[in-house]
Amino acid sequence: MTIRDNLKRVEDRIADACAKANRDPSEITLVAISKRKTVADILEAVDAGLRHIGENRVEEGVEKIPQVNAVAAGRVVWHMVGHVQSRKTKHVLRHFDTVQSVDSLKIAKRLSRLSREVDRRLNVFIEINVSGEASKYGLEGYNWYGNASVREKLWHEVSEIVALPQLDVAGLMTMAPFDAEESAIRRVFADLSGLRDEMAASLPAKLPELSMGMTDDYQIAIEEGATTIRIGRALFGERL
Ligand SMILES: *Cc1c(COP(=O)(O)O)cnc(C)c1O
Repeated sequence: MTIRDNLKRVEDRIADACAKANRDPSEITLVAISKRKTVADILEAVDAGLRHIGENRVEEGVEKIPQVNAVAAGRVVWHMVGHVQSRKTKHVLRHFDTVQSVDSLKIAKRLSRLSREVDRRLNVFIEINVSGEASKYGLEGYNWYGNASVREKLWHEVSEIVALPQLDVAGLMTMAPFDAEESAIRRVFADLSGLRDEMAASLPAKLPELSMGMTDDYQIAIEEGATTIRIGRALFGERL
């Protein structure tokens, strides 16, 4: 199977999920997650027509992005989708176009401050830990509708982030729980979607994008309102 064949299959499944949810496939941005895949794999993906590429580790992006850009300059929008440590923020700003994994007010402030130093704006998503799993990054969002203190803190942090001068906040991002049943995964996606709706109604931020859904659950995510899906294995094959 080539990446082009895999892409065709993923696109067919996106179309099926959209048909089921009465949505238009043009609303969905497919981000190909190339972690642990080679520069040659990424170039094959770009040749197949993929424009959005994501990495989850800063060092790996720093190494591969210039090599891909040397061949495919201007054809790739680079997404950072993994946790960013403070001391690596500058590297992120040098190489990535979008940071989907803004998982604390602290890192948001730092990204905004360093963006100002290099005179750029940065497109970001705010990552929310909706599932409540301790292993996940993100602003605490478990049971945001039922827990007043979670809700208050979340609203405070998001309102501070959307007010930062150099950040363009596209929307919210989350990860489904590991090894969960479909109903639990669907619940997490619906919770993120509901959170976005309430925030957009009460904060000065529209938050149009919802980044949710990976290889095992992107069709569920689309049914629950995802606008950005992050797919690794279904495009590139299993990771070694
Ligand atoms: C690896 C990864 C993905 C893609 O996972 P697959 O299961 O390979 O589709 C998506 N988002 C993030 C944050 C990841 O780290």
